[in-house]
Amino acid sequence: QEDVFKKIVSHCKEYGFVFPSSEIYDGLAAVYDYGQNGVELKNNIKQYWWKSMVLLHDNIVGIDSAIFMHPTIWKASGHVDAFNDPLIDNRDSKKRYRADVLIEDQIAKYDEKIEKEIAKARKRFGESFDEAQFRATNARVIEHQQKRDALHARYTEAMQGPDLAELKQIIIDEEIVDPISGTKNWTDVRQFNLMFSTEMGSVADGSNKVYLRPETAQGIFVNYLNVQKTGRMKIPFGIAQIGKAFRNEIVARQFIFRMREFEQMEMQFFVQPGTELEYFQKWKELRMKWHQALGFGAENYRFHDHEKLAHYANAATDIEFHMPFGFKEVEGIHSRTNFDLSQHEKFSGRSIKYFDPQTKESYTPYVIETSIGVDRMFLSVMCHSYKEEQLENGETRVVLMLPPALAPTKLAVLPLVKKDGLPEKAREIVNNLKFHFNTSYDEKDTIGKRYRRQDAVGTPFCVTVDYDTLQDNTVTLRFRDTMEQERVSIDQLLSIIEDKVSI
Ligand code: ATP
Repeated sequence: QEDVFKKIVSHCKEYGFVFPSSEIYDGLAAVYDYGQNGVELKNNIKQYWWKSMVLLHDNIVGIDSAIFMHPTIWKASGHVDAFNDPLIDNRDSKKRYRADVLIEDQIAKYDEKIEKEIAKARKRFGESFDEAQFRATNARVIEHQQKRDALHARYTEAMQGPDLAELKQIIIDEEIVDPISGTKNWTDVRQFNLMFSTEMGSVADGSNKVYLRPETAQGIFVNYLNVQKTGRMKIPFGIAQIGKAFRNEIVARQFIFRMREFEQMEMQFFVQPGTELEYFQKWKELRMKWHQALGFGAENYRFHDHEKLAHYANAATDIEFHMPFGFKEVEGIHSRTNFDLSQHEKFSGRSIKYFDPQTKESYTPYVIETSIGVDRMFLSVMCHSYKEEQLENGETRVVLMLPPALAPTKLAVLPLVKKDGLPEKAREIVNNLKFHFNTSYDEKDTIGKRYRRQDAVGTPFCVTVDYDTLQDNTVTLRFRDTMEQERVSIDQLLSIIEDKVSI
């Protein structure tokens, strides 16, 4: 699985999806650039989200707020005081780690051990294997499970404080070693604030300190009344936004899963107090449906309901996707009560209450938030679409089975040879179709090689222009996933393809 992930990372680079930032200067940790194919895929993901959120809901509108905001906003939101991760160093490797992540990895190791025992037993007993009974009776599994549960309970307790000394004690008791130095020589755990700051204006006296936003949500909260009034919105209504966010993350080296500059797609849904749990449930279901509509298989998603909640939330869940390195959070759905809005009322001194025209009452709305990382979504799409296939002729092909709606290029038009008017005919097809969807032209190398190149970037359709085309206006249409070919008239291409690639 780790190997597959490495291959996906190098595929992303080799085919112009994702490059390390500032590569000729040896890169910048946890910062990445999207290449010519990556930007198309990323734009399509954003459009797929925007369409389903803003265009398909009468009561959701979008905004685009600035990255810089008044610094007091981050005081009000709690980010200045509490947007921290527990940090620990290994004295030998001089590497920094998140103490919570080290412990979570340890919990996952117990889970892996249990899964291994189960897989072994399943192989041994075949059809008659009863997993529930095995879990309840196998001594090794019971032991791993007990250790896991005890660790999990202790960890959850420590994170509530959070009791930093206890986190360190857990790392010591579990004999967690640094993966690089292999030693247990740890420093104390301390809090590390994840916000980046800079100075605004020309005076660097500290009073002009501003932050790069660590989430897009606050831009929505401080604008909600502007939007409600100017858009004459009635509760319940939502505001959506796509934009960059910045976090000085401690754990790097997870490719685009955890970046220091990333993009979020967030939607805040404003509801009447008392109805929030009903809407939380509704959004939970809707968001899972949105993910599953991509066709990656329901078994690759799961909810992770939070047992312990942040002080401002009264329900929270993550949608996790099965990445090559395990089930990981792609989206968070939170019922945030009226915490943010009432904090902004308190810190700004302005009333930002909603006036209900029916009951003639004013109140501070409650908020359900759906928050998804564009880059994590991108990674999940890449991981699921990357396939190495063994062909009948013994060759292997690497193909990105991207959902056609997300594919960077929808159609590649390939003249069989570079002469006798075939390139001109192919260009004519490109020119007619490129206004409808992303269409490219390729004449270099053999047809076989060109097909492979299109497979590798996930182009769902290729057409080949040959000598017959000049006679009867037909082309060979090749389907990426099945590699089947069909002779079709050029006039049919638009209707055949457009329907399958539209978002
Ligand atoms: P994690 O626990 O993985 O750090 P989080 O719970 O802090 O994530 P949220 O604050 O809920 O994340 O952010 C919402 C979404 O934004 C996440 O589900 C994820 O998709 C995305 N996201 C958060 N941090 C990063 C990051 N450093 N790089 C890429 N995407 C991120």
